[in-house]
Amino acid sequence: MNDILPDVTGTWRYLESIVQEIVESYGYSEIRLPLMEHTELFKRSIGEVTDIVEKEMYTFPDRNGESLTLRPEATAGLVRAGMTNGLFHNQKQKLWTSGPMFRYEKPQQGRYRQFYQFDVEAVGYSGPDVDAELIIMSARMWQRLAISKISLQINSLGTPAVRERYRAELVEYFSGVKNQLDEDSIRRLEQNPLRILDSKNPDMQAIVDAAPIMLDYLDEESAAHFAGLRALLEAAGVTYTVNPRLVRGLDYYSHTVFEWVTDALGSQGAVCSGGRYDGLVEKLGGRATPAIGWAMGIERLVALYEVSGGEAPTSDADVYIAAVGEGTLERAFSLAEELRDSITGIRIETNLGGGSFKSQMKRADKSGAAVALILGEQELADGCVGFKAMRSTEEQISVAFDQLAETLKKKLN
Ligand code: ATP
Ligand code: MG
Repeated sequence: MNDILPDVTGTWRYLESIVQEIVESYGYSEIRLPLMEHTELFKRSIGEVTDIVEKEMYTFPDRNGESLTLRPEATAGLVRAGMTNGLFHNQKQKLWTSGPMFRYEKPQQGRYRQFYQFDVEAVGYSGPDVDAELIIMSARMWQRLAISKISLQINSLGTPAVRERYRAELVEYFSGVKNQLDEDSIRRLEQNPLRILDSKNPDMQAIVDAAPIMLDYLDEESAAHFAGLRALLEAAGVTYTVNPRLVRGLDYYSHTVFEWVTDALGSQGAVCSGGRYDGLVEKLGGRATPAIGWAMGIERLVALYEVSGGEAPTSDADVYIAAVGEGTLERAFSLAEELRDSITGIRIETNLGGGSFKSQMKRADKSGAAVALILGEQELADGCVGFKAMRSTEEQISVAFDQLAETLKKKLN
């Protein structure tokens, strides 16, 4: 679990604000959710035989003996919230949420135990149109952030019936080569054979590569859905590859699954992953409701933005006010407030802790401020400040209090 320190929070906030702005521009609204839920919710939604539920959850009894779990992902809680609050009764919802998720994983570069996700979910929409829109929306993010080292993989898992049939084929195939399976895969063979396709064990690759392919089993409805998605992506100019081995780690997916991957971040290549989960609301006790969503890892977005040469917006001060002498601090404070009133977003540091003129100017320099305003007893008496452009060789000038906002506005942009 990491501390996100001030030297990077500017980048985080910048990226989060861009992503928010983009999803809002598609008509999505924010929902804020609890960090923990009943353990049962995750077991039922994510599935008992998944990495998350088997070994990654932070689960504990509360004082009442109820089993609670720190959320490992956002979809389950969002669906629970929608059901609890009646958001899905005869209405569609386009929602986004963000915040920390918790998984007891082996920590490594790009993989943490508390990490942050930005999450988008469209509930009540069944067609491939919304699938396409969600993907187009994520493509817009990369474009806006000038991130190019990323590519899209898509696949279809079909309807639950298709998946059931395919599952039987897989069990038959893997049973035939059982003596070559690793321990994990043997365990999954009975419970969750699709997850064998997801195996990261290089010794398993040949066996996995020769396994039957899901897309060959799609029924008419599933094939039409997938073809619809592909056509819309192509029309929108979003390039993709079909990866028939993309199954995604969670049980609840059906039809479309997709992942934006990069090879610019070493082994943690998944940046934004999503899929359709038409059965989840019903599985949690609601009326059958189609839905789809994606989640993006913010740490990975930040890392990818940085390796793509993205610049963090500076958090340096614009103005540093030095105040030396009797009565100057009071005026420095009121001057700073007046400037904040008249120049939206201006970042002003007023010298704190006193000090000589020289030491205050040193701090002004260190603050990164573009302009230092110098207020001594003489200036106070004359109704002006010394105005020094810190990052240039320009001579210091004198500016009257009532001209200050105008002069600064010109100087700062
Ligand atoms: P991975 O294959 O890397 O384990 P995942 O399939 O478990 O990813 P999801 O559950 O789909 O990931 O989560 C969505 C996104 O959240 C991922 O694409 C990734 O960017 C990010 N993510 C997942 N787990 C972590 C983690 N432990 N630390 C940082 N980011 C993570
Ligand atoms: Mg994982």
